[in-house]
Amino acid sequence: MFVYNKTFYYFLKKALDFAYPVFCINCNSKIQTLFYFGFCKTCFRRLIFIKENSCRKCGRFFAPGKSEKNICAQCRENAYYFEKCFSVLIFNEYIRKPLFAFKYSGKKHYGYFFASLMAASLKKFLLKETSSNYIIAPVPLFRKRKQQRGFNQSKILALHITKKLNLSYDDFLIKTMDTSSQTELSKKQRRKNVRGVFSIMQKKNAKGRSILLIDDVMTTGATLNECAKVLKKNGAKEVVCLTLASVPAL
Ligand SMILES: [Zn+2]
Ligand SMILES: [Zn+2]
Repeated sequence: MFVYNKTFYYFLKKALDFAYPVFCINCNSKIQTLFYFGFCKTCFRRLIFIKENSCRKCGRFFAPGKSEKNICAQCRENAYYFEKCFSVLIFNEYIRKPLFAFKYSGKKHYGYFFASLMAASLKKFLLKETSSNYIIAPVPLFRKRKQQRGFNQSKILALHITKKLNLSYDDFLIKTMDTSSQTELSKKQRRKNVRGVFSIMQKKNAKGRSILLIDDVMTTGATLNECAKVLKKNGAKEVVCLTLASVPAL
């Protein structure tokens, strides 16, 4: 007869931990549960989720009381091709480190955790309030960059989200020109830097489609806007963007 034996389970758990140790994707400490999306409890608590205090258009966090209509200064001054953007987290050091490891140090499997966070927020917000049938599409990477990195990080995120939420997926866009890093550029320069670098892929039909564009980080929204422009010019009905993290609006 099978008898419940605490000691037996204790050693079984120890053996499994030894065989499959799991470490926090930020601080590398050993973790007991995957409940916190790959983070340890301490690091997870340091992630800042964007909730009410966000711009209605670009979805970036901004301090309450800055605008009556919940539209940030940048969105009041600029017109966008996308309907709306939203992000799961404020881009702080606790998400920056694992995100950089994912993009630049070959930690491709981190994408699963990030996509799980994104899928959870999609379910909670966008998919709850809409009847649109979204097709998931990633922001493309220039071919040479993809070869260097081995993968397009946005595509990894998009594919995981598609699977998790049972949505459909398509690569609509291609990046036809390489761009210099946007990091040091002003808002205006960023727009100029990405102008005309995306095209619709041959034989792809965006006509009448509602597209959910996926990227890792949003800064000024220049890249997402340029992608949305191409999709809209090719007949897309609606473009909504989702990023894992975004830089707070001014
Ligand atoms: Zn940690
Ligand atoms: Zn905004």
